[in-house]
Amino acid sequence: MRIVRVALPVPLPQVFDYTATDVSDTDIGRCVRVPFGKGEKSGLIVALPPAAEVDPARLKPVRHIQREVSALPADWLALVGFTARYYHAPLGEVIALALPPGLRRADAIADRDHDPLLAPAVAGLAALDEVKRDSRALRLLRALAGHGGAARRSIVRAWEDGAAVGELLRRGWAKEVRRPAAEPGGILPALTAEQQAALDTLAAAPDGFAAWLLQGVTGSGKTEVYLRLAQRELAAGRQVLMLVPEIALTPQLEARVAARFPAAEVVSLHSALAEGARSRGFVRALEGHADIVLGTRLAVFAPLPRLGLILVDEEHDASYKQQEGVRYSARDLAVWRARQRAVPVVLGSATPSLESWQHARGGRYRHLVLAHRALASALPTVRCVDTRRLKLDEGLSPALQAAIGERLARGEQSLVFLNRRGYAPVLSCPACGWVSTCPHCTANLVVHLADRRVRCHHCGCDGPIPRACPSCGNQDIQPFGRGTQRIEARLGELFPEARVLRIDRDSARTRAQWEALLATIAAGEADILVGTQMMAKGHDFPKLTLVGVVGADASLHAADFRAPERLFQQLMQVGGRAGRAQLPGEVLIQTEYPEHPLYRCLARHDFDAFAALALEERRQAGFPPLTHQAMLRADSPALDDAVAFLREAARVAAQCAPEGLQVYDPVPMRMTRLARRERAQLLVEAGERGVLQGFLGEWMTALRALRTARELRWNLDVDPLEV
Ligand code: ADP
Ligand code: ZN
Ligand code: ZN
Repeated sequence: MRIVRVALPVPLPQVFDYTATDVSDTDIGRCVRVPFGKGEKSGLIVALPPAAEVDPARLKPVRHIQREVSALPADWLALVGFTARYYHAPLGEVIALALPPGLRRADAIADRDHDPLLAPAVAGLAALDEVKRDSRALRLLRALAGHGGAARRSIVRAWEDGAAVGELLRRGWAKEVRRPAAEPGGILPALTAEQQAALDTLAAAPDGFAAWLLQGVTGSGKTEVYLRLAQRELAAGRQVLMLVPEIALTPQLEARVAARFPAAEVVSLHSALAEGARSRGFVRALEGHADIVLGTRLAVFAPLPRLGLILVDEEHDASYKQQEGVRYSARDLAVWRARQRAVPVVLGSATPSLESWQHARGGRYRHLVLAHRALASALPTVRCVDTRRLKLDEGLSPALQAAIGERLARGEQSLVFLNRRGYAPVLSCPACGWVSTCPHCTANLVVHLADRRVRCHHCGCDGPIPRACPSCGNQDIQPFGRGTQRIEARLGELFPEARVLRIDRDSARTRAQWEALLATIAAGEADILVGTQMMAKGHDFPKLTLVGVVGADASLHAADFRAPERLFQQLMQVGGRAGRAQLPGEVLIQTEYPEHPLYRCLARHDFDAFAALALEERRQAGFPPLTHQAMLRADSPALDDAVAFLREAARVAAQCAPEGLQVYDPVPMRMTRLARRERAQLLVEAGERGVLQGFLGEWMTALRALRTARELRWNLDVDPLEV
């Protein structure tokens, strides 16, 4: 009989011991079902310790060990272990997040686990002519004979009939083609001089860990660099992990990767996958079959026995940071993972995070620059439209209207970028000053004229648009300010002949809707697009030559010190949508601050100048990345309770705070009320990451021992993005 130590998904920083008679060291890293309380839980075996921490007679036996799939290897356990330690999260919760739910529950994983690339054999071609009795196997064979290359793999996958596949192979009607995974499909573009130089530098680097920042302007061909790097790894028989910020971007990239490597096994991992598909992909990676794993932040937890390279596209993107539960940064974990596995990691962006940019400047990361677009077209011209003395028509300046008119006349597309969905951000009464506020949040209810509702964008609650002011009865209440719906409506009036298309989270609620919108744009069936940041990322629209930016000034003076960085990134990304193909692009920014340094840097496409300025401001103010932060947040139905807990936490912190650690006062969060709960936060900060980490461990232990800690909800956010 042996002691089995299991990590379980419970909000406690501990592991649990059980017993088993038939276990061996090879079971470490396997999923297991165990009795827990009155029920049962699934967890992961993390160790078989020589002795238990409690009397072994009191331990219960495990119920079932999942042995159909390989055990998670030691390096994977080390990765989740590090994540738990660094983010001060329970190990069981990290594992629950990292493992696909089906695997964790120790469900049976579908055994048809691979889609062979089949080609009809000579005997098969003969059979097509000779065999009279039709069968599923014969129909599959006919489909295969009618197609070539990678399409055959999709045919087998779509057939969903392992028996037919088996029969083809048994009868010798088809044979499995084992082409080298690295063999590229199609014609490769000749590399630009900059791409070649970047690849040469990467190739000349010694084996082992190195972090690279690939800073390339929009359209400079970063993806081509990723693909060439991947090709090298595949040729050497290694696996590649490729992270992208958004699920919406995966199908496009997946198609591109699959087209480039028709013989490679490409697995995608993201939270929108069906459970079975996610488990299957994870197991393909774990067992070393997947050549390329492509996915969103949770893919950083893919087990990769043959890992050779990690790529992080759009590394600055905030969605790499999980904002709930285990608040990990997939980008930061990717760098840790690369170091752990002694492989290179390439972080790519047109607008790197200040964190990565600073590392590249300081020499911790190596810097690769692509300053020019790959295709002949130059970067778009960026101009500010000074709106201080202009009369705007629903927020649209005469210059922007004229520019849109020119595009219409030329049959090109325009995009009006406004990062605010809905019709108007608030409904208000000019007579008494009433505004539509959410009853549950510190937020206004947004007017959605399309479905005649007012809606809270934070908690989702909504109601009909009131006919009269609920406070004074005035019937003349008005939507105040502008959202995408309002701009869309006005553009429709100004350009009645144009096809106006709105792209935001309301019009692209599902993936199917989003893809339909993209297809409409690509087919040239829209003339004027009105879109939020959804439009900023990753997509190529060859006929889009104008981007008009409306309402950006608000972020210049926002209270969040990261707001300008985000604004610059967003505008550079969205501006980068203009003129990607042969046609030159233009970006018009409507602003009351045309001389603002941020806009001036943007007009020169000078990210480095902006980053240097922003970093200097951070240095003077003592903000990250020059300091390291953690945020303790608490929420409760009453603000006083949340603040009282944080006060106690601050007192505890003061007792164990080392030299160089600063503990601030608890404050209500900027958006204090969310979904009927009042929220407050407490910031701790240190100049050295190590000082902060050492302190956090001690502090968390002390906090968990507090009685009040069990009476409300609280969490710790290490390296928070929102402060
Ligand atoms: P980025 O990711 O840097 O914004 P992409 O990788 O999407 O840029 O490339 C932009 C466009 O340039 C794409 O249409 C791509 O096919 C094309 N491209 C990239 N590299 C080359 C090259 N060497 N020759 C020709 N076209 C290229
Ligand atoms: Zn009123
Ligand atoms: Zn609300």
